[in-house]
Amino acid sequence: MAKKQRRDFAVRLMEHLVVPTFVLDETGHVLIWNKSCERLTGVQASEVVGTKLHWKGLYLEPRPCLADLVLRNASSEIDKLYAVDCSSDPDRGILSAENWCYLPIAGGARYLAFDAGPIHDEDGKLIAVVETLRDITVQKEAQDKLEILARQDSLTGIPNRRLFDEYLEGEWRIAASTQHPLSLLMLDIDDFKIYNDTLGHLAGDNCLRTIAALLTEETRRDRDVCARYGGEEFAVILPQTNLIGAIAVANRISRSVDAAKILNPGLGQDRWLTLSIGVATSGIDCGPQSTTEMIAAADAALYAAKEAGRACVRWPVELSPASHGQSFRQIDDLSTS
Ligand code: GH3
Ligand code: MG
Ligand code: MG
Repeated sequence: MAKKQRRDFAVRLMEHLVVPTFVLDETGHVLIWNKSCERLTGVQASEVVGTKLHWKGLYLEPRPCLADLVLRNASSEIDKLYAVDCSSDPDRGILSAENWCYLPIAGGARYLAFDAGPIHDEDGKLIAVVETLRDITVQKEAQDKLEILARQDSLTGIPNRRLFDEYLEGEWRIAASTQHPLSLLMLDIDDFKIYNDTLGHLAGDNCLRTIAALLTEETRRDRDVCARYGGEEFAVILPQTNLIGAIAVANRISRSVDAAKILNPGLGQDRWLTLSIGVATSGIDCGPQSTTEMIAAADAALYAAKEAGRACVRWPVELSPASHGQSFRQIDDLSTS
């Protein structure tokens, strides 16, 4: 095959490749925009070949594509331009990344995977960059759903322990950097074993769903999170909330469980289901210094509530608002807020 024939053949091969592909020359102008790329983006080769308008196929505004970064040897810009950097061979100038794109012509948001690599001549001089695109929206959406499911309690539908742990860490860091208080409630259903033993496990499951819905209803601020911590234990994270505010939320939750009048007949006639609640707050000198200490403090307070006869709210003595000039009675009154 003559040299020109070979070149024509290579270009034809590239143009009909089933993988959406485009090629930039060493000046960043589009050399090839193949048929698959036309189908994916809706942009025709005739509109972009010879220009630097390749971004038009993928984005609403002008911005660098991965091939531009390869051309400029600017892999450090991936982080700010792409959702995920999957480059495994940046030393050879090959970059890989993923991004949500709004394909302006083809329409709609699509999640694409990009791979871009340099082409050199015999002397090692960069003569072009090839970029391939893969539409992985379906896989991304399935993965996102799995991520959500992995953080959801299957019985009650509220966040599970895993999300709780991640969220508490995040809010702890925010609270530490902004100097805002952060509060935590640990809640445990009282005498739930008796409830299960009297009414059966299915009734117990339904009861857990009811309590979860009620907690979600009573934790109203955008950043509040209520999670199933395990068994018949729940946890509520209250960002930007001091101890007095957290006690008020705990009291509100207790009142709402009282109002639900869930009978626990194994305890006797007219005995309703109740919660014991432990409260802990960060942002105070004598308060917990880590999330582990915070959980331990709320847990200890919950234990104190059980010891005090159940159906009540407790917090570590050293955090007591009474020592900050508030009387216990005033705190109880806050329960109506
Ligand atoms: P206390 O007031 O000291 O908390 O007593 P309790 O009976 O609530 O606590 P205990 O730890 O003795 O029993 C907890 C019960 O919670 C026993 C267990 O069967 C029940 N439980 C835990 N997880 C589930 C669940 O997913 N579904 C049902 N139905 N019951 C559960
Ligand atoms: Mg328990
Ligand atoms: Mg219990």
